[in-house]
Amino acid sequence: MIVREAKLLNGSKVQYQALDEAIRTAQFIRNRAVRLWRDEPDVNKARLSLLCKELAHEFPFAKKLNSMARQASAERAWNSISNFYRRCREGAKKKGYPQFKKNSRSVEYKTSGWKLSEDCLTINFTDGFKAGQFSLFCNHETREDLFRLKINRVRVVKRADGYYAQFCFDANRQEAGNYTGNVIGIDLGLKYFYKDQNDNTAIYPKYLRRTQKRIKKLQRRLSRKFVKGKPQSNNYHKARIRLGKSHLKIQRQRKDWAVKLARCVVSSNDVVVYEDLKIQNMVKNHHLAKSISDASWYQFTQWLDYYGKVWDKTVISVAPHYTSQDCSNCGHRVKKSLSTRTHQCPECKTEICRDTNAALNILKKGMNILGVEWVRGTEGHSGTSGKPGTLEKSSTAVDEEKSDSISCLVESRINFVKNPAL
Ligand SMILES: [Zn+2]
Repeated sequence: MIVREAKLLNGSKVQYQALDEAIRTAQFIRNRAVRLWRDEPDVNKARLSLLCKELAHEFPFAKKLNSMARQASAERAWNSISNFYRRCREGAKKKGYPQFKKNSRSVEYKTSGWKLSEDCLTINFTDGFKAGQFSLFCNHETREDLFRLKINRVRVVKRADGYYAQFCFDANRQEAGNYTGNVIGIDLGLKYFYKDQNDNTAIYPKYLRRTQKRIKKLQRRLSRKFVKGKPQSNNYHKARIRLGKSHLKIQRQRKDWAVKLARCVVSSNDVVVYEDLKIQNMVKNHHLAKSISDASWYQFTQWLDYYGKVWDKTVISVAPHYTSQDCSNCGHRVKKSLSTRTHQCPECKTEICRDTNAALNILKKGMNILGVEWVRGTEGHSGTSGKPGTLEKSSTAVDEEKSDSISCLVESRINFVKNPAL
């Protein structure tokens, strides 16, 4: 599935209000479905779609919403219910009991209730709310996809700076990747965003820190305008929107950076190994919370996975246990606190940066999963056959045996891409 987004522009105030109403109605149906599930035994998906029909009979505003959009909101409720059941079966710690939504921001249309114009420049919402025609403001790729691909769903999303239409296309992104023969093990950290086994680092631009001051100021202004127990003033809502916009900006900056970095990492390596951090647990540590959520690791790893799929490359996550403690050279466990920055092994006298050591361990773990052994290239290799730690055939006989299996793995992949008949 590909999701593209376009901003809905050139609508009147009344039109945007109609979109708001549609969103509120979708929320109403979803909440009614959850209510029914809580009250009655043996509620299943079919019962929920029957409920949509009943609601449409009972409430005139529910009838206004497109019938398939009504079904979609009941499906949303069913998703949260079935996810709850699944987590119960799996015995998860947090079950996520389905809650009622209060500030829902989107409504999902399927294949009816909207119409694209011939030139794909405008969209017309044709259901009972009569939101009417909006111009679509989007980039070149989105426009092309609108022409080319079949649209499964259209989601109208309300954000701090306006209304957007998300188009879900019935296609998968699949591109031919560039195979370089490199492998990379990534240690995600606070001092650097990540460090790989060759001491290369990516430094995180502290967008949030920089705009932190501004957000604090806006937040202060907002709370000063808040009056308890009364409807809020116009000035309050203006301040609220200003705050929302600056949060939106950071969110976009972060995403942009994570996407670009992940793209860069996956395109220049064939095998990417990262550690699967339990970020929710780590954010509980309040000394680190700000820097950790700031660093947006999770988003980055999600995009690594995504690009791995797009270019058919191997992206593996490994368990993070003892990656920073064990010696990457001999395997001896060296206990250290967060503030110890270098790894010093008493057994084999290795002395390297703590993060590099972790990256090496992560890479080794990943290679174990793949069933090949990875040997760190020495300086001699770097002179003759490229960067240290690459997968190229090494000169010594012992290394050859070990690295051959990886080379085969990579080569077979390359052959496969070059010649699909193989
Ligand atoms: Zn050692």
